[in-house]
Amino acid sequence: MNILLSREGRDDAGEVGGARAVNRHHGLAEEAYEAIFAQLMVLRIAPGSRITVDNLARELNVSQTPIREALGRLEGEGLVVKTHLIGYRAAPQITRRRFDELYDLRLLLEPEAALRAARAMDDKRLETLREVAGVMSRKQGGDERLRYSAFARHDAVFHDRILEFAGNELVRQTLAHQHTHFHIFRLMFHSRVTEEALDEHEALLSAFAARDGKAAKRAMRDHIERSRDRLLPAFE
Ligand SMILES: [Zn+2]
Repeated sequence: MNILLSREGRDDAGEVGGARAVNRHHGLAEEAYEAIFAQLMVLRIAPGSRITVDNLARELNVSQTPIREALGRLEGEGLVVKTHLIGYRAAPQITRRRFDELYDLRLLLEPEAALRAARAMDDKRLETLREVAGVMSRKQGGDERLRYSAFARHDAVFHDRILEFAGNELVRQTLAHQHTHFHIFRLMFHSRVTEEALDEHEALLSAFAARDGKAAKRAMRDHIERSRDRLLPAFE
């Protein structure tokens, strides 16, 4: 990971160039967050395992401050758990029961949302969705693990945008608070998880392009059911 800055002047915002120092600090926390997020997504940090601030600081070559900030953010996303006096560890894997509940919730809400989004679709929104989907399909260099974690994030954005266009903010927030995508992608690190999803997103985009609500609803149900079936082997 490429977080290379001298040990001096990282966290302090001095009088000269103070704004830049603050930005740099912000950038470090962001980079630390991305790096740890990726390790969690591809199970390089195993679910339930201890996370030592010291080790991460050394590995990423930053001070403890940005690491703690990053871990705090990941805690908010349910990927990291902090225990008093013990410290941080990676959240345990979701249970089979929670997995079933999450997919049940998605199947209750997202197909209908896709239908509504299709009926409220306009060119600008379609362009937004195509853009997010396009980022996912682009091969980003050779690092399969970084690609995988980026996919998890963009898939979350893609689905969130559809919920936004569907127009019910409460439904959108309900799903957002579950951080579903982060938890399900962490079940299994496998290229099949991402590649098949791309085709399913294409089917959704076609339905949106045609402003075909019923087709969008069907495509979304299909996508979620297949996603569930792809990840089920993680429990075997
Ligand atoms: Zn998706």
